[in-house]
Amino acid sequence: MFSLKNQHVALISVHGDPAIEIGKEEAGGQNVYVRQVGEALARQGWQVDMFTRQSSADQPAIVEHAPNCRTIRLVAGPEDFVPRDEIFEFLPEFLQKFLDFQAESGIEYPVVHTNYWMSSWVGMELKKRKKIQQVHTYHSLGAVKYKSISTIPLIASTRLATEKTCLETAERIVATSPQEREHMRSLVSTRGKIDIIPCGTDIQRFGSFSQLEAREKLGLNPEDKVVFYVGRFDPRKGIETLVRAVGRSKFRDQANLKLVIGGGSRPGQSDGMERDRIEGIVKELGLSDMTIFPGRLGDDTLPAFYAAADVCVVPSHYEPFGLVAIEAMASGTPVVASDVGGLQFTVVPEETGLLAPAQDDAAFAEAIDRILSDATWRNQLGVAARHRVETYFSWEGVASQLSELYQKLMSQPAAEKELQKVGA
Ligand code: UDP
Repeated sequence: MFSLKNQHVALISVHGDPAIEIGKEEAGGQNVYVRQVGEALARQGWQVDMFTRQSSADQPAIVEHAPNCRTIRLVAGPEDFVPRDEIFEFLPEFLQKFLDFQAESGIEYPVVHTNYWMSSWVGMELKKRKKIQQVHTYHSLGAVKYKSISTIPLIASTRLATEKTCLETAERIVATSPQEREHMRSLVSTRGKIDIIPCGTDIQRFGSFSQLEAREKLGLNPEDKVVFYVGRFDPRKGIETLVRAVGRSKFRDQANLKLVIGGGSRPGQSDGMERDRIEGIVKELGLSDMTIFPGRLGDDTLPAFYAAADVCVVPSHYEPFGLVAIEAMASGTPVVASDVGGLQFTVVPEETGLLAPAQDDAAFAEAIDRILSDATWRNQLGVAARHRVETYFSWEGVASQLSELYQKLMSQPAAEKELQKVGA
């Protein structure tokens, strides 16, 4: 029987460092995904090396997270933060450093799982030099993203071409929701092999508090009506829609309505500017007294905020998956989310929360008010939400599916190549 002992796998995430603190410096879902998948694969027996770009001179080159699971930082370009749209020119150096690391350590990686389009480029170049099976997760599709923004970056044509070639040539693409697969097929290519394996969440970490305990810990009153957002400050996250919805809420003039907007930001950087803009709208609508900006939420407070909330709102313009929704659901909190992408997969309307058209603040207000109006129904939605996450979205389950996929690819490389030519 196939044994995982001493079997190496490389996860490549050039710009999403799995060892960095989440919730700041553009670090979000991809960083969490790579780290959690890596650690769960290691628990299942794999030797996991996660490769990323060194983005500050004082970062250690290697971080050991757990037995058989480490982050390896490669120097490619300046040892400084570089916005993701400007990293492409440093990828040949990243590739060379990866090959140097392999040569020095003597480690071969039969499976390389790449994350986001830049890493897919590295994976495809590696394939020209090494015998590897490439698995790829997009995290975001240029073809979807560029439809919804007004200024298209210079790198767009390179990204779109790389994403298409990767879809058509990787041994396997992992879509995290049926909606993401549909977008790959309709907007990128009808060729290539796609499996659906969702993102996961830590069902022990999220779900460890009752609402009352969480409120006590955070100093919130049991009678408060708490509306919660957490995530990066980015206009595409739709925080403006949430603020305007709360401005329209029928509860807005009640003293116990609280809006909590969590997430880190850096003054003068893109996330700092978005936070300033949001604070401006909060002020303009007269919501300052009821709104709290607690900043980046880490391990010590995030689970309590999710549990304390009456409703968690995910108002993104688009979301290929959306980890925040399942983290809230795992915590027994219903979700009001935009009716887009992976949120249509995770949130079941009327069962675990509600969906509203993206950017429609009137519809968000109505959905939020429905949940805030009925505590019994709110609790029923929360119980069903927790159950859905336990059933479908634990990291252990996600890692088991990925592990099976890797093993399948390693045991039948020739057959896979044949299938790929046909474009199943
Ligand atoms: N996050 C966090 N603290 C913060 C803000 C965000 O831990 O202050 C985490 C959040 O819990 C989630 C991730 O960042 O795990 C965001 O992932 P999601 O898929 O929702 O959005 P993305 O950042 O990928 O757009």
